Amino acid sequence: ELAIFWMRRDLRLEDNHGLAKALEGDYPVLVLFIFDRAILDQLPPRDARVQFIWQELKQIKEQLQAKGSDLLVKYGEVTEIWKEILKSYSIKAVYANRDYEPPARERDKKIYETLKAQEIPFKGFKDQVLFEKGEVLKDNGEPYVVYTPYMRKYKHLLKDSHLEPYASADSNHYAQLKGLDFPDLESMGFEAFDFEYPNRDWRKSLIENYHETRDIPSIRGTSRLSIHLRFGTISIRALAKEAKQWNDKYFNELIWRDFYQQVLYHFPHSFKDSFRKEYDQIKWEHNEAHFKAWCEGKTGYPLVDAGMRELNATGFMHNRVRMVVASFLSKHLLLDWRLGETYFAEKLLDYDAASNVGGWQWAAGCGVDAVPYFRVFNPALQLKKFDPELKYVKKWVEEYGTDAYPQPIVDHKNARERALDRYKSALKSD
Ligand code: FAD
Repeated sequence: ELAIFWMRRDLRLEDNHGLAKALEGDYPVLVLFIFDRAILDQLPPRDARVQFIWQELKQIKEQLQAKGSDLLVKYGEVTEIWKEILKSYSIKAVYANRDYEPPARERDKKIYETLKAQEIPFKGFKDQVLFEKGEVLKDNGEPYVVYTPYMRKYKHLLKDSHLEPYASADSNHYAQLKGLDFPDLESMGFEAFDFEYPNRDWRKSLIENYHETRDIPSIRGTSRLSIHLRFGTISIRALAKEAKQWNDKYFNELIWRDFYQQVLYHFPHSFKDSFRKEYDQIKWEHNEAHFKAWCEGKTGYPLVDAGMRELNATGFMHNRVRMVVASFLSKHLLLDWRLGETYFAEKLLDYDAASNVGGWQWAAGCGVDAVPYFRVFNPALQLKKFDPELKYVKKWVEEYGTDAYPQPIVDHKNARERALDRYKSALKSD
């Protein structure tokens, strides 16, 4: 008789809420991870994120083996895998940390029903955020859609107890099983390759200076912890506990992350559609050549091009530049923000639906607390302000300054006017 802890975007044994609760329970705990074919089948054979997950799981497996236990890793269709597991083991309870993305919620609902049919409880816990869904609400009980009042209420509600670690690492109530499945990357259709992932440690000095360095894309002025927050290879509680003391500006960024998670939870339509529905009436351009130039970093706007090339080469793009390229796509090129959102989803190591949709809709003007539609970032001014010596541009756009560098694919002034007209008439017709 066993309990299962189903690991998903919480790839660590330390300070893991759901795991800690499972270990406190009556049954020895088997830790499970499922590589979901529905997601994996859509990815290219070299995928840095799949490899990252796989490498992290390998370490977790070794940690569990050192405790006389093992990690069970499965690959396939999730419901089928669960049926198989229920046949192979006598399961008494299932524990997991909550995932707020609409497809994950649907998946969990299905598994909940499957387990319920066999009278097995499926218990969910809050782990990846400090506050979730109904915890930070307006006085009238409605969810916030503007960041600043949300942040104020959040700070007001936050107690030291929210930042305390869960003692999951200390327990040894793991199932004493050995030799469990662990598919290699090749058997799932992926190739292993050399890739340098951002370090999971955070430096006090960097976070302390964050407010001064965060907007300079040419330097290492942000923490680069996003992939670790995405996959739970660090604990948000541990990071927030220190960040809160070191730098309020940095702590505010972590609150943006929770803000977007709760927005997606309360407004699941914004996963695919604009949060502000009237923006879905905008008549977008259909210009494949422009989209291709944007993807490849060949728009003739150096900051946009440097950003896209950084993304293509590393799976990362600096936040300031994400804002510029997203504004450029949705306003200068008047292409549907979903095209850019999907491209980011394919490329970003830290891809997270809530933050990505949030960031894109912010830039396109159609999201919660978004830039007003008439504010069109001027890429040349952004460059002057944030990369005045062209260090970032020259790092990523080798041919910059030579004849080989493309001419601008749109004229700033005309593009700005076209965007204002098009947005205005869509919003008027509502
Ligand atoms: P730091 O500046 O060091 O910030 C620390 C952490 O705070 C980040 O790791 C992240 O978890 C969180 N954070 C910071 N800024 C934001 C923000 N604006 N919104 C939400 N969380 C934030 N972030 C993602 O994690 N995944 C995405 O898919 C994603 N897509 C984006 C798309 C667009 C168009 C834009 C404008 C922003 C997007 N962001 C996304 C937010 C932000 O750009 C990244 O979190 C940040 O660049 C990651 O680098 P870092 O870890 O060095 O961040």
